[in-house]
Amino acid sequence: MVPTDPKSEHPVAIALGSNLGDSRAILVATIDQLSQDPKITVQAQSHWFQTAAVGPPQPDYLNGCVSLLTTYSPQPLLEKLLQIEAQFGRVRRQRWGPRTLDLDLLLYGDRVIQTPTLTVPHPFLHERAFVLAPLAEICPGWVHPVQEQTIAELAKAVDYTGVQQLSD
Ligand code: ATP
Ligand code: CA
Ligand code: CA
Repeated sequence: MVPTDPKSEHPVAIALGSNLGDSRAILVATIDQLSQDPKITVQAQSHWFQTAAVGPPQPDYLNGCVSLLTTYSPQPLLEKLLQIEAQFGRVRRQRWGPRTLDLDLLLYGDRVIQTPTLTVPHPFLHERAFVLAPLAEICPGWVHPVQEQTIAELAKAVDYTGVQQLSD
């Protein structure tokens, strides 16, 4: 494997979701928080999508994606995301249960990573309409390094029932 140059900037895509508390304010504050980190430059932000929850019965989610350039390597970036989740009051109760904030690391350049704490690309990215809808807005040409298809191609193949783009 080619070692990562710690000074170089890497393109990253992140999914944001919330279905507890003031979701819109939490997600906006999260993007602000990311943009204030000197190791992160926020490049693009999708629309917000209101999406029916999967898993146990719970309120609809607000979902979106951002693309970044970052000098963080993957594991420290994940830790940064988990730290922001905790700051916004995320409590892990049941799997796929309601949460104030969920931040998933979707893509890190063309890297494929499999460790006990981090899988990149995110293992369900290619099958989730609520991720592909916002992601296709901001990085349609990014090639998924495992599926070997662009995000736009993957986005064409999923069912958007229950996923609604909000106007602002
Ligand atoms: P899903 O992964 O199906 O979207 P989830 O987001 O509800 O489920 P969490 O409880 O938020 O899952 O995450 C559990 C753990 O998943 C995290 O503590 C983290 O170590 C691990 N994880 C592995 N790969 C990733 C990734 N690409 N992005 C975020 N977390 C990841
Ligand atoms: Ca998730
Ligand atoms: Ca998560």
